[in-house]
Amino acid sequence: MPGKKHTHKYNKIEIAGQKVWSCALDDCSHYMPYYLRQIMPGKGSLCWNCGNKFILTEPLMERERPICMQCDLKERGINLDVNNIDDIIAMIGQNTKDKTVEK
Ligand SMILES: [Zn+2]
Ligand SMILES: [Zn+2]
Repeated sequence: MPGKKHTHKYNKIEIAGQKVWSCALDDCSHYMPYYLRQIMPGKGSLCWNCGNKFILTEPLMERERPICMQCDLKERGINLDVNNIDDIIAMIGQNTKDKTVEK
């Protein structure tokens, strides 16, 4: 049964040898085939570390269990006071995409 709307908590799992992005929440059977991962950046997910909602980006999706930008930076030893998460996402996005970002 499709439950109430919630933010999926994505993680990467294997089903019958196929990688899929699956929601880890108990009452949810949502999953995304791995080949659809290009459309996943920009979707919300719950951080495996702090539980906060964050927006998936390709670098974050390299993890089996994506964590939010702030936790990711902390893990890398970068301690930023992030006031505007959009700036950070834009910053990371510029590193991964060749497209120029116009201001
Ligand atoms: Zn879900
Ligand atoms: Zn987090």
